[in-house]
Amino acid sequence: MIATKAYAAQTKDSNLAPWNFQRRDVGPRDVQFDILFCGVCHSDLHQIKDEWGGSIFPMVPGHEIVGRVVKVGAEVKKFKVGDLAGTGCLVDSCRTCDNCKHGLEQYCTNGHSQTYNGVEQDKKTPTYGGYSNTIVVHEDFVLSISDKLDLAAVAPLLCAGITTYSPLRHWKVGKGHKLAVLGLGGLGHMAVKFGVAFGAEVTVLSTSASKEADAKKLGAHKFVVTSDRAQTKAVAGYFDFIIDTVSAAHDLGLYLSLLKTDGAHILVGAPPDPAQLHAFSLIPGRKTLAGSMIGGLPETQEMLDFCAQHNIVSDIELIDMKDIQKAFDRMVKGDVRYRFVIDMATL
Ligand code: NAP
Ligand code: ZN
Ligand code: ZN
Repeated sequence: MIATKAYAAQTKDSNLAPWNFQRRDVGPRDVQFDILFCGVCHSDLHQIKDEWGGSIFPMVPGHEIVGRVVKVGAEVKKFKVGDLAGTGCLVDSCRTCDNCKHGLEQYCTNGHSQTYNGVEQDKKTPTYGGYSNTIVVHEDFVLSISDKLDLAAVAPLLCAGITTYSPLRHWKVGKGHKLAVLGLGGLGHMAVKFGVAFGAEVTVLSTSASKEADAKKLGAHKFVVTSDRAQTKAVAGYFDFIIDTVSAAHDLGLYLSLLKTDGAHILVGAPPDPAQLHAFSLIPGRKTLAGSMIGGLPETQEMLDFCAQHNIVSDIELIDMKDIQKAFDRMVKGDVRYRFVIDMATL
């Protein structure tokens, strides 16, 4: 077994604190990599606080993981010691269901293994995430990382990146489309970058007037403060797509009114409580309310390669491990600019 250092939550009411545990030995198809950086996703906070229910403790969060390979199993083909490597939200899946066969492991019908707050495919061994110094993952769930980009700023691509890239690709968002990005946080700022890269006209819909200059710097064409009725009225019926990254309860009816006929509102944000929706927000205008979850392994690699080619990374604030609680406090207030990344050298 491999002695591993981490930060963990012991219960939903405790703050993260140092914790040691054992990872499995490197199997024939496993890759072990030492974690250099790990992004901080709002999902980490939802799960530590058990806001979605069913959380497993102790919990070592973190699913935006990048580092350097230190050991590979005898049958590993894709990686060698010294390579850069990354792992996102998944560490395994059944590999046999229709979705897995089509590279849609995030929708595995037999239950995928999420990187933390989950179980391995034996359905009993708990998984522990990237707020730790090293990780062992089957090579099929390890991504290749370009050495051309700033590694710390690559980490958030493993969740915030793929979660926004995947639906924009699925709905073929691009030239001629008006895309609204609702919520400018970790996911939102990546949605802006991808929307712009794919050729769409991008508008940020935000509760924070103070983020306007940043939105423009990220490439957004327009900025709307959602609490300002005159500003939202001016974009009524305007958008082809809304990608909704908001982490807390919000008024879907208001945002659906900003869509054109046949427009789609795509949920990626996952607020803890159910939303209320009137059928008449969708019926006139034949609108769609949809959802999307991270991305499969092939598409995650495609996204990373796209980012390397187009020089796209996350805008990050690098933090020490001991400052994680302060980062969570700022995240709850919507004050993320635009992804916290933990420097694992400080663990
Ligand atoms: P984040 O960095 O905290 O960003 C969320 C943004 O939403 C905030 O910055 C804020 O932007 C806006 N917001 C927050 N509270 C709001 C409220 N009460 N009303 C309106 N807007 C509000 O979070 P994140 O890491 O991007 O994650 C966003 C959500 O996506 C979380 O629920 C997370 O669990 C979920 N998620 C889902 C997937 C998936 O596979 N679907 C993957 C990763 C994360 P403004 O200041 O601009 O308003
Ligand atoms: Zn995430
Ligand atoms: Zn499957």
